[in-house]
Amino acid sequence: MIVQLDNEAVAREYVHVVYETVVKRNPYEYEFHQAVKEILESLIPVLSKHPKYMKFGVLERIVEPERLITFRVPWVDDQGITHVNRGFRVQFNSAIGPYKGGLRFHPSVNASIIKFLGFEQTFKNSLTGQPIGGGKGGSDFDPKGKSDNEIMRFTQSFMTELYKYMGQDTDVPAGDIGVGAREIGYMFGQYKRIRGAYEAGVLTGKGIIYGGSLGRTEATGYGCVYFVNEMLQSKGLSFEGSTVVVSGSGNVAIYSMQKAIQLGAKVVACSDSNGYIYDKNGICLDTIRRLKEVERERISEYVKEHPTATYHEGCNGIWSIPCEIALPSATQNEIDEDAARILVSNGVIAVGEGANMPSTLEAIDVFLKAGVLFGPAKAANAGGVAVSALEMSQNSMRYSWQFHEVDDKLHAIMKNIYKSAVQAAEEYGHPGNLVVGANIAGFTKVADAMIAQGVV
Ligand code: NDP
Repeated sequence: MIVQLDNEAVAREYVHVVYETVVKRNPYEYEFHQAVKEILESLIPVLSKHPKYMKFGVLERIVEPERLITFRVPWVDDQGITHVNRGFRVQFNSAIGPYKGGLRFHPSVNASIIKFLGFEQTFKNSLTGQPIGGGKGGSDFDPKGKSDNEIMRFTQSFMTELYKYMGQDTDVPAGDIGVGAREIGYMFGQYKRIRGAYEAGVLTGKGIIYGGSLGRTEATGYGCVYFVNEMLQSKGLSFEGSTVVVSGSGNVAIYSMQKAIQLGAKVVACSDSNGYIYDKNGICLDTIRRLKEVERERISEYVKEHPTATYHEGCNGIWSIPCEIALPSATQNEIDEDAARILVSNGVIAVGEGANMPSTLEAIDVFLKAGVLFGPAKAANAGGVAVSALEMSQNSMRYSWQFHEVDDKLHAIMKNIYKSAVQAAEEYGHPGNLVVGANIAGFTKVADAMIAQGVV
């Protein structure tokens, strides 16, 4: 007992020192600090039980990206004016496979955002059980309001630099906020042109007719709902008849809504970065899809066609709508402590993080203390990267699976992630805490691979 207490104190001090070094070495990178803190603190029980992770300096190494690449992305708009954006790629950890992670195009993108996403991605990818390391990238370019030609010129310029660091056995990017099928298509075309070879497995999220996987578009949203369904079923509950609020109206949000509706839920609200719509009778997904996927319109347009719905300016208010299930699927830190308290007081039963790090550390604490079933991002939204890895497998085989085959595999992967997180949480003394469980389950595989490969 005394030994155990000593080990825990040593592990706690080790985590503290590593975290303080991260803060000192990466000043002002608040999102990165937040992600590191959440993971490191939950690893204390593993470090106490297995001091080898301290002995081999695993934490010091795992918080430092293997490589961070930044580059200039010059491009010319439709009026002939030259613009310069900044491109990023973080190659965070390759212990268990080639770097894998999406590209984000959004004005808020900076080194901190890319590093927090790449760090999280390392553990998420490990959780999927597939051989993929962690990476992430993007640019502070804003695709909103740009013409197709401007998007094409920008993405071609971006790829003209990024291609040097990519390869199907090196680093395999995909989409994220602001990067969908159109952007991936342009990037793949430019990569192929520069390389002079058809290396399909170098990018995922491709169109079906040129090497994409059926089910990739739906994967993150469907996967998140499958994960939440596992949490609900563990308490004898289900989506059937429940009221659901989803933030965002992009790729993850749309397919979370679709699967939740298929499972019998009523989705009453969703949003974009300007505001949210609410319809107590249930929102019409067909209209949302047309507005967002085809017409690239603002969500405010929805109420013109559906007078029973109301539009509200600003994003935060969406969490004051009473619901049993909340699926934050827009962006980081969209649920703060106050929003979490409102959700709890309105009777929320389950929260599934479709977005990356949508809840602040304080909000997570509120959910866990209130006994809300909480599916953390790196587990709940791992379905996207899991199907990306299935896309890579199909590309290697030069073969395509049917939609139902991919969907069945996705479903099995999400069940498995849930099981691993539950088991790790129990094994390390935090039963039911999937934040701790997912972090530990993701960490041990990467850490053991790092030790096996020596100090590199
Ligand atoms: P999309 O670009 O398709 O959609 C993003 C949605 O969130 C849009 O509705 C957008 O509104 C809204 N949004 C973006 N930024 C903000 C902001 N700062 N404040 C409020 N709303 C915002 O992205 P995805 O659906 O692909 O990604 C959503 C989240 O899911 C991200 O956190 C991403 O990292 C995560 N994720 C995505 C995966 C995928 O496979 N796509 C995989 C795993 C995680 P607007 O249209 O106004 O910009």
